[in-house]
Amino acid sequence: MKNTWDTEKRIINVSNRLPVKINVTEGNISLQNSDGGLATGLGSVFHKYKNIWIGWPGAEIDELRKAEVEELLKPDHLFPVFLSKKEIDNFYEGFSNEVIWPLFHYFTSYSVYDPEYWDAYVKVNQKFADEILLHATEDDIIWVQDYQLMLVPQMLRQANPKLRIGYFHHIPFPSSDVLKALPWKEQIINGLLGADVIGFQTNNDVSHFRNAAIKIGGASIGTDKLTVNDRPVQVSCFPISIDYEKYKDLANSPETKRIAQKLQKQIDTKIMISIDRLDYSKGIIQRLQAFELFLKSYEEWRGKVTFIHLVVPSRENVGGYKQLKQEMNRLITDINGKYGTFDWQPIRHFYRSFPPNMLSAMYSTADLAVVTPIVDGMNLVSKEYIASNIHLNGALLLSDGAGAANELTESILVNPNDITSFAEKISYGLSMPTDQKQKALRTMQKKVERANIFMWANNFLDKLINVTAKKTSTKLVKIDSTLPSRIDTQFTLPTNGAFVAGL
Ligand code: UDP
Repeated sequence: MKNTWDTEKRIINVSNRLPVKINVTEGNISLQNSDGGLATGLGSVFHKYKNIWIGWPGAEIDELRKAEVEELLKPDHLFPVFLSKKEIDNFYEGFSNEVIWPLFHYFTSYSVYDPEYWDAYVKVNQKFADEILLHATEDDIIWVQDYQLMLVPQMLRQANPKLRIGYFHHIPFPSSDVLKALPWKEQIINGLLGADVIGFQTNNDVSHFRNAAIKIGGASIGTDKLTVNDRPVQVSCFPISIDYEKYKDLANSPETKRIAQKLQKQIDTKIMISIDRLDYSKGIIQRLQAFELFLKSYEEWRGKVTFIHLVVPSRENVGGYKQLKQEMNRLITDINGKYGTFDWQPIRHFYRSFPPNMLSAMYSTADLAVVTPIVDGMNLVSKEYIASNIHLNGALLLSDGAGAANELTESILVNPNDITSFAEKISYGLSMPTDQKQKALRTMQKKVERANIFMWANNFLDKLINVTAKKTSTKLVKIDSTLPSRIDTQFTLPTNGAFVAGL
């Protein structure tokens, strides 16, 4: 892909969280990489250019130390939006994670429609918009990420109609039958319609949003664009992806190969893996139930397969997650207690996050990756597994509820609620002939290699430039995956864990 990006242009990337997290311990402030798909995916794109990134630094910062944190982040062109404990409780854990997240993932009964949450959401979105307005010029490209910031596009548009604003929605967008439960749906739709380009993961999400924009937001429909007060709004599908080469190279690195060899020696059975944040949308319970049924129904596999079950702690303060953790632990104990022997433990469970080369070693050694969310916007773990499986020795069992299922059609697709079929497919995936696994993996690798994170960003930015071309004349901003990282330009994210700024 040819790089034609313009040095005059910069992208102001805005997400709820910065790609680093501030830790304050005993007088020291340290930075640590954030886990999660958004930080991992966008980090690859944004660390290369002279862009800036605005977001919450992941912790409450004492008034007296805010200037210090700003100084610490500035060299990496990161700009913090500070949030109080109450704002975090009501805006982030409350409205974002207890209202929007469950509703948009179709877990409607988990949503708590508390007006205090909504008030905090409006105020914090305004805080983000104010911080953006301190930096933005009409020449910049403002790219707002995800459901925590759905009011920001309209707030920016009202402050300056000439701004060039894009918004990408990383999670599913629900159908109107589900959206209608939300008391603030009109404000949310109009908030989003402030953008010039609104991107979604799948065509389903696009069609749900377009319907809602016309019915609720008063947008009218053109040939391929919506129109809001004579302003075109492009709504399109841009499936997010990964930095394919980065994952492939990591799997090929001597350190990863060393860890992988050790892992294979320590676990002398076939290896099945799953890697998720603790979340009800990830189908953790259904997967454990299916694994239990598999061990019950396919006795010949007992002692011959080990399930490496990695769950990254997440949102433990939000209602529903604690019970999920208890239920998960109970099932794991039951299964290990029932089927384990002196020399075989069916499930090796880890409740923490792993560094990239440990993950890579797991991806490259696993005979079967079981990626089975009930509903997921995209799911990057499935794509990372494909890119890291350099020995072409694995199979992917993928939920048809993940956005990735639209692209990774050569995987073994499963409905995670159909426990009987799920158990059968675990057996099928573990027994798949090598040539079939290789054929499927090669095809999926080609797809992910081509439709990588850089293509995702380029496609989005192309659309944004086209839609806004009439406002100001501008050159195309493109991102080239073939270029080496520009050392002179910004975003040197801390690599592999934490570094400490001595204070
Ligand atoms: N991940 C990580 N450390 C871990 C486990 C996972 O950084 O110990 C990353 C993983 O590599 C992937 C992301 O977390 O990039 C999860 O993204 P996904 O889209 O699958 O789900 P999300 O958590 O965003 O819902």
